[in-house]
Amino acid sequence: MNCKICELHKIQPQAIIQSTEFWIIRNTSSALLPGYCILEPRRHVTTWSDLTSKEIIEMGTLIQEIESRLKFEHHAEKVYVVTISEVVSHLHLHLIPRATGMQLRGLHLIEKAITSN
Ligand SMILES: [Zn+2]
Repeated sequence: MNCKICELHKIQPQAIIQSTEFWIIRNTSSALLPGYCILEPRRHVTTWSDLTSKEIIEMGTLIQEIESRLKFEHHAEKVYVVTISEVVSHLHLHLIPRATGMQLRGLHLIEKAITSN
């Protein structure tokens, strides 16, 4: 199997912000959006249906924790959570902070964030 995300987990451990039993949170190093990170299951999973109930539960907790951290550390007024997984099929969630006062928002911000990553 040739999967970019599975490879990154092995070859780029410095980008990993947090690692839990089922998930990895990876920093994007986005200059445009500090704090923008990606939540990825440890296992190679390509659909929501493939996740176990334990993985789903932990994912929800992690989204809440990441949102709180982005609000506190990066003054995020809003945190977008987006899953596309079209270019890389390994399921992953983009957590994109929109800082207070930022003019760019919604789909425009999401597109800019994801294409700059
Ligand atoms: Zn993978």
